[in-house]
Amino acid sequence: MTVYGNVLQMIGNTPMVEVTNIDTGPCRLFLKLESQNPGGSIKDRIALSMIEAAEQDGRLKPGGTIIEATAGNTGLGLALVAAQKGYKLILIIPDKMSLDKIYHLKALGTQIVMTRSDVGKGHPEYYQDMAERMAEEIPGSFWVNQFANPANPKAHIETTGPEIWEQMDHDVDAVVAGVGSGGTISGLGRYLKSVQPDLRMVIADPVGSIVGHAVQTGEISTDVGSWLVEGIGEDFIPPNCDLSIIDDAVYASDKEAFAAARELLAKEGILGGTSTGTLVASALKWCRAQTEPKRVVTLVCDTGNKYLAKAYNDAWLIDNGLLDREQHHDLRDMIT
Ligand code: PMP
Repeated sequence: MTVYGNVLQMIGNTPMVEVTNIDTGPCRLFLKLESQNPGGSIKDRIALSMIEAAEQDGRLKPGGTIIEATAGNTGLGLALVAAQKGYKLILIIPDKMSLDKIYHLKALGTQIVMTRSDVGKGHPEYYQDMAERMAEEIPGSFWVNQFANPANPKAHIETTGPEIWEQMDHDVDAVVAGVGSGGTISGLGRYLKSVQPDLRMVIADPVGSIVGHAVQTGEISTDVGSWLVEGIGEDFIPPNCDLSIIDDAVYASDKEAFAAARELLAKEGILGGTSTGTLVASALKWCRAQTEPKRVVTLVCDTGNKYLAKAYNDAWLIDNGLLDREQHHDLRDMIT
């Protein structure tokens, strides 16, 4: 058993587990548990990689200020790494964000700047534009910009990809991943296709997002919907999302995603977040459509602890039209 020197050394080297109690068609489906990172998500890896890249090229000096616009797991990862390394962190957050996340970030020493969530790109209070402007105004500050920062996919080229390759005994036919910034899918695709050129990268996208549609048709649609799954799905193609590396697209609705997350917990004992629901629902669709046996990997991107009152609460699901009453009884039967 390893004793770590500090919490940052615990980022990465996450376990892999096979799905054994859910029908995966002719395929074998494996889950990489990114929820086991110390900050609770896959984003710890890129937080460390983007901060260390900025230290190395001199954009970040001891005692400097890190700035990012994020409402999600990247913020938690950055807060963890910044606190350990002694940097100040300012996060610009749209005001629809849950209070639990804000308490967690503040307890890690983060300065939160709230802004409007009802304004889009080009508006002075749009959270991404505010981050860029603040970084210009605050001396010694560094704007992380996970959507375009090359140290984001690099973390997956250098760590997540090689870990999957070793854990899968150098034999993976497909990887199913979501796109938030695109760092995961682009980094994994770049590394894994370099070692297994016929590997297929599959995007799992929430219904309403335009990224999967762009993979399928080559068109960038302006017809954007809305979805409740958090952390994946976009209304634009982020610079870090390399569409040319993605081979297939599978869409999952919120209802399918939440049902898959619940089934994963009930049958496999794994408490994943809502994006994990989209990934598992899409991976199962892809696996069941195959005619040959394949070895498929997908990710548990973060833990379900953050979503207990929503995804894991039948009343909330029913209120939001995501669970039928009969299904509710089936779920109860399955658990009791
Ligand atoms: N799942 C969750 C829960 C996330 O927070 C994110 C990142 N926003 C992703 C998946 C997608 O990862 P990436 O940014 O690398 O595309």
